[in-house]
Amino acid sequence: MERKPYDFVVVGGGAVGLSTALELSKEYRGAVLEKESEIATHQTGHNSGVIHSGINYPAGSDKARLCVEGRTLLLEYLEQKGIPYKVSGKVMVAKTEEESERLNSYYQQGLQNGISEQELKIIDGDQLREIEPHSQGFAALWVGTTGVVDYSQVARFYALDFQQNGGKILSGTKLVGIKQQDNLTYLETTTGTYRTRLLINCGGLYADMIALMAGIIPSIRIIPVRGEFYSLTDVSSYLVNNSINPLPIPNLPFVDIHLTRTIDDQVKVGPNAVLAFAKEGYGKRDINPREMLLYTLLLIPTFYRMCWRYWRVGRDEFIRSFSKKIFTQSVQKLVPEIEEKDLEYYGAGVRAQAVSSDGSLVNDFVFEWSKDGKSLHVLNAPSPAATASLAIGRYIAQRARSALE
Ligand SMILES: Cc1cc2nc3c(=O)[nH]c(=O)nc-3n(C[C@H](O)[C@H](O)[C@H](O)COP(=O)(O)OP(=O)(O)OC[C@H]3O[C@@H](n4cnc5c(N)ncnc54)[C@H](O)[C@@H]3O)c2cc1C
Repeated sequence: MERKPYDFVVVGGGAVGLSTALELSKEYRGAVLEKESEIATHQTGHNSGVIHSGINYPAGSDKARLCVEGRTLLLEYLEQKGIPYKVSGKVMVAKTEEESERLNSYYQQGLQNGISEQELKIIDGDQLREIEPHSQGFAALWVGTTGVVDYSQVARFYALDFQQNGGKILSGTKLVGIKQQDNLTYLETTTGTYRTRLLINCGGLYADMIALMAGIIPSIRIIPVRGEFYSLTDVSSYLVNNSINPLPIPNLPFVDIHLTRTIDDQVKVGPNAVLAFAKEGYGKRDINPREMLLYTLLLIPTFYRMCWRYWRVGRDEFIRSFSKKIFTQSVQKLVPEIEEKDLEYYGAGVRAQAVSSDGSLVNDFVFEWSKDGKSLHVLNAPSPAATASLAIGRYIAQRARSALE
């Protein structure tokens, strides 16, 4: 055991955990526990790489506020560190006249969330083809503030800066137990016990389990939702200039399959949103029987209520996951020329999606404090949390300071 307890320990070496640790390390002594041998190996290392504009989130929500603030902070950080990124905009395509009626509400939402009029334009089908010559739609919303970056690289810079401030990254260190003693929190891990004045749980897919370890019955449970990607083959990648998106599906926190030209100039197609049978279930056939038992037994009634609410979407996603033909048909709604042969399987990420006790998918970020004020739990930080990571880090640090005074 180290001689002196840490002021703070963050569990989880993803974008959110590292940005929080970086912010707090400017004033306090801290460490990050990461169970893998490397940082950013889960959501942060398996996402779409989009710097979100904030247009998709209801005005006044934490997602809208922290995404817009985080985007500005992120762009400053990327400039300062010389990390490659591009802001080349996206189009949100309305396929029909009926859908086009929804464009105005997204336009207004974008303005409310602080996007300027110059960066937002409702355009017709012909103007859409000037921006994306191979896309087809009745109308579209062009959003100029969307960009792309490699979040694994961003996370590595957060980690370096944190270490330069004196912070410790304890990788290959899995948290397995939490105890309170002498006004301190004792963290039992696979590499020893660490003591801290404040615990910050940024455990992504396992954040609910870590909250339980800390004696908190979290208001939500985390369900793993796999997002599978294809990429366009080299010969067909000319079909997409920047980013082509459908309109968001009302009442679902995910955007349906979209096309994104990444910072390394590949066109990623996806992700879909399939219920996974393991928290880190990256493969279609990955099953973790222990975790499945937890879903079906411990999550009663959350899990069953969720299945009941979303069974139709869940079934369709499951079928689309196994059928490249159906996946291609979804892509063709945005770019009709794309054929099955143009798509190569790319890989998957698993979203940590919070589900509330009534079985509904939680749309906004969720932060929960323990009653004794000794731990803070980030219980829902799905997309756009990578974009928002620096703003989330500041927000948590601000609240953590009062606990550390
Ligand atoms: C398919 C997909 C596409 C996405 N696209 C975008 C996008 O384009 N733009 C965007 O802004 N966001 C996107 N997101 C969301 C974004 O990636 C996440 O919101 C963000 O990475 C969350 O970061 P995190 O630090 O909370 O979680 P993670 O990156 O998952 O990190 C959590 C860490 O905690 C560690 N951990 C868990 N349990 C323990 C334990 N017991 N002990 C020690 N360590 C532990 C894990 O190993 C992991 O490294 C996407 C996500 C997915 C899955």
